Amino acid sequence: MLSPEAKCSFCRREAVARIAYAKLLLCEEHYIEYIRNKVRRTILRYNLANRGDKILLAVSGGKDSLTLLDIMYALSQEMRFSVAVLHIDLGIEGYSEQLKHSVESHTQKLGVPLITLSLRDILGVTLPQLSKRSRRPPCSVCGIVKRYLMNACAIESGATAVATGHTADDVIAYAIKSFILQDYSSLSKLVPKTKALQGAISRIRPLYEVYERETLLYSVLKRLPFHHGMCPYVVRNSLERHVKRFFNQIEELFPSTKISFLRRLAKHAETLTPVETERKSIRTCDVCGLIASDHKCSFCKVTESAVGMPLGREVRDYISSMVKEIWS
Ligand SMILES: [Zn+2]
Ligand SMILES: [Zn+2]
Repeated sequence: MLSPEAKCSFCRREAVARIAYAKLLLCEEHYIEYIRNKVRRTILRYNLANRGDKILLAVSGGKDSLTLLDIMYALSQEMRFSVAVLHIDLGIEGYSEQLKHSVESHTQKLGVPLITLSLRDILGVTLPQLSKRSRRPPCSVCGIVKRYLMNACAIESGATAVATGHTADDVIAYAIKSFILQDYSSLSKLVPKTKALQGAISRIRPLYEVYERETLLYSVLKRLPFHHGMCPYVVRNSLERHVKRFFNQIEELFPSTKISFLRRLAKHAETLTPVETERKSIRTCDVCGLIASDHKCSFCKVTESAVGMPLGREVRDYISSMVKEIWS
C-alpha cells in the first residue's frame, strides 16, 4: 500500500501506483497514460500493427481482455488501424452470461463493432455438453474451440491479425511450465507476434509486457465493466498459478525481471523450438481448409466425436455470413 503522502513523479498529485521497475510513483491519470504508452511501445518494438491493419480483438470480458479492448481502441485512432471485437459465448451457466454482458457494455460505449459467436447457435451444444459428448476435459475443448473460432473469424472477415489479452504473467507462466515439464513444443509460439501460415492468421499479444497487476489496476481506475468471477472449470491448484505467484515474488525482490525475461524470450523463442519438427507437422484440414497438425483439424475432430460429423466447413460458412462489412 502507498502512503497518502506518496506523490506522482510527474505532477505531484496523490500517487495511486508504484512502478518499481521504472522507479515511478503515478497518479491516476499518469498511471493510465503510462500503461497505454507501454502498449504503444510494445506495438512499435515488435511491429504488431501498422496503419491500415484490421485487428480482431478476442475479448472474453475479464480484466485483461477489457484492458486490451480499451487501449487498442484508443491506439487505433491514433495509429490509424481498425479494430473489431470477437466474443465467444461458451454457454457456461452462471458465467458466460455475465461475461457477454461485460463485453457488450464496453463495446457499445466505445462504438466498436462486435461479433458474438455463441456455441449454442453454431453447434447446437454448449461447451460443457461438447466436452461431455466428446469425452475430453472442458479446458482442452475450450482451447480448441476458441483458437478455431478466432482464426476462422479473422480469416472470414479479412482481418490482418487476431489480438489476445495474454499478459506478461501468462506468457512467463507458459514458458516456465514448458521448462518444468521439459516440453518445448509450444515455446516458439510465446512471442509477441506469430507469423501467418497457410490456413492461420497472425496472432499478436499487445499486453506482452503488461503485468496482470497492472491490467487489474487499469480496469479498476477506468471503471471497466469487467467480470470478476472465475470459470467453474478453472483448476485452482494449477502449475501456472504457482509459477505466477513465484515470479511475482522474484519481481518484488528484483524489479524488471519479468520484462527482461520476456524480451529475451521474444528474441530466442523461435530458435528454442526444433523448427524442423514443427514445420513438418503443419498442414491444412481436409474438411475445412484451416491449419491442422493432422488430416483433420482438432475442431473438426472434436465436433465429429460430439455430434457425429466434422463441422469446420459449416462453421466457416456461418461465420462468413455474419462478418460481412464489419470493418466499414
Ligand atoms: Zn500525475
Ligand atoms: Zn477442420
